[in-house]
Order: sequence, then C-alpha cells, then structure tokens
Amino acid sequence: MRSLIILIDGLGDDPIPAWNGQTPFSRAFHPQMDRLIQKGLLSRISICENDVAPGSLTCILRLLGVPKERFPENRAYLELLAQNRDVSEYEMVLRCNVISQDSGGRLISFNGMGLSSKEMETMSRQFSSLTPEIEFIHLSDYRNLLVMNRNEKVLKIQTAPPHESMGMQVNELLAELKASSLEMRLFMQESDRILKQYNRNDMAYRLYPWGASCRTEMPSFEELNGIRGALVCQTEIVRGIGKALRMEVPELSYCTADTDTNIREKLAVTRRMLETYPFVMTHFNGTDEAAHRHDYEGKADFISRIDREFLEPLLDKAEEPLRIIICGDHVTSSVTGKHTRGKGPVIAAETNGNGHFVQQILNYKDIVNFLMKESD
Ligand SMILES: [Zn+2]
Repeated sequence: MRSLIILIDGLGDDPIPAWNGQTPFSRAFHPQMDRLIQKGLLSRISICENDVAPGSLTCILRLLGVPKERFPENRAYLELLAQNRDVSEYEMVLRCNVISQDSGGRLISFNGMGLSSKEMETMSRQFSSLTPEIEFIHLSDYRNLLVMNRNEKVLKIQTAPPHESMGMQVNELLAELKASSLEMRLFMQESDRILKQYNRNDMAYRLYPWGASCRTEMPSFEELNGIRGALVCQTEIVRGIGKALRMEVPELSYCTADTDTNIREKLAVTRRMLETYPFVMTHFNGTDEAAHRHDYEGKADFISRIDREFLEPLLDKAEEPLRIIICGDHVTSSVTGKHTRGKGPVIAAETNGNGHFVQQILNYKDIVNFLMKESD
C-alpha cells in the first residue's frame, strides 16, 4: 500500500476571538477530510513536543523519520541544496538578509521593508560579483545566501538572527562577524557602499549575514525508512530537506509557496509521484504564511481549497488503497503570528481499506510508523 502525507504547514492555530474560539481548521469547509476522519481518526498532537524547535525544518525532518541527532544545525545549507547547489567540505554557507536601520543605526526591519520583491531581485544582481571571495546567491525577497571558504572563526560566531534583534544596534550585532574575516569585512563595506543609493529619509538598507553552516551529511530517506520517497513542494527549505535526504523533489512551474499557489499542479505531480514511489509527502505552505500575516480567514479559505481542489479529485479517482495522513508540522498562531509548541489536528485513514482499520496516533512516532509500515 502506498502512503501519502499531506503536510499543511502551520495547520494548528489558537482559538480566534472573532470566531468565538473556533480555529481556521474548525471553521474551514472540509467535507473530504471529514470523510477520512470517519474512515480513520482525528487526533491532536504536538510534533515538536518539548525537545525540538517548533519550526518546519525540525518538525518535517521528524515526520520523515530522521532522528534528532542527525538534524543539521541550521538552514543555510539546506536552502543552498534547494537551489541545486552544494558546497565542499572546504566551503561554508551563510544566510544573508536585506535589513533596514533607522538614523540611529537601530534595526527596524529584518525583511527589506519598503522594497518590492522585484526591487530586491534587481538589487541582488549588484552583489553577485561584489568581491571575488564571496559568492552571493539570491533566493527570494529579502532572503539570500553567501558562499565562501570555510573559516572556523566565522562558523563559531553566533550572529543574532535579525528577526530576533529588532531595535538593536546593527553595527554592534555585526561587529564580531566583521572582525572575524577580512573577506567578510570587505564584502560588508562594498555592499554598504552600493546600498547607499536605496536610502530613504531616515532609513538605510544593509546586508546582514548570519547563521553560517557547513556541509552536513544526512542519511537518505531510503536508509532511514526502507522505502523510496518523493517530496512535492515549492518552499525552499522543504525542497532542501528532500534533496538532503536524496528523495525525488520534482520541479513545479506554477506553485508559489503561498495561498495563491496552483493546487491543480500539485495534485497532478502528486499523482505522478504516487505511481512510482511508495511514499509521497505533499507540502502546502500557504496556511503558515497566512497565519504569520494574522490572516485567519485566508488560512481557513486555503484549507477549504485544499479539501476541494486537491483531496476531492484525489479521493474520487483513487483506485488503489492509499494510506493518508493530513497534519501540520507545528502550530502557527494567527493571533500572535508566531509558531508554537501547541497541538494541531492529525487525520489518519486508509482509503478503500477493509473497514476495521484501527490505529492510535498519540505522537509523531505513531505517524511515522503508520506511514512507513510494510504493505499488507
Ligand atoms: Zn512559519
């Protein structure tokens, strides 16, 4: 029997006061999910529990059967893999945000506030060969990567994540990094010079490198679980996870990693992957993005769309029995806009099953066991 996990990022939520305590999941119209719950079960669990961070990286690795001792230390390396790039053991990769500071040098945005995606893309071209020692790779919006020769000093520095350092002095936050490497100092000086042309009133843009990481060897999905798998997703970090675990990660042309994504394409590619692989994870990111924007209506609408545009046609045409899990990775609260360790819904069912399917889902291990168990 084949297994499909539909990972709805940040599915769980807090009770919404304006909805008398209903959540986006309970508010959404999802008759197909209800059908699956009738065949199987609905449970509520926390994937991150109390021992790993409530983020996509850790929680999705966990759902793919990776033990926590094998988790990579941070995201930059996986984001690089998602770009079909890799580094050797003699190199390293850093994340690099476009940030802005006020006239007093205090960090006022970690995401290039005030610049459009297009502007940031155009801007990034000027950094691609700024200095010969540091390669600049633009991802999207304010997010970029730097690749440079491995430097143990730089790897040891824990530059504070910009989104956790609002209001602090940017020069102080970056001082240690700047002092640790000549190449880095030169790069930061040159980028400041170029960014001067974008300054507005009392605000200056700067590049903010942080989160250095080096090559991380990971076990393959097949080694871990004894079956081959594919991961259908557009979100870069999740694509990086799939590549690091040597799963198939098919290219998508019309997906956006947000609520305006093309669900039809995701369905077509998921079906194609299910023809070849006994395990498929299909990831939807829009729910998490909407919750970060405090847009609980958008989150509920997107859950309804997944039910109608993905699940309904999939279940209608499913000829072979399929083991299905629908769950989130962590809770994303539309009230606070943040990830939490709370419990989120998990649906487990077998389509065309023999009807006496009974299974308990009490923790993430039960999900992994349910998905990976031998076909019977
Ligand atoms: Zn998130």
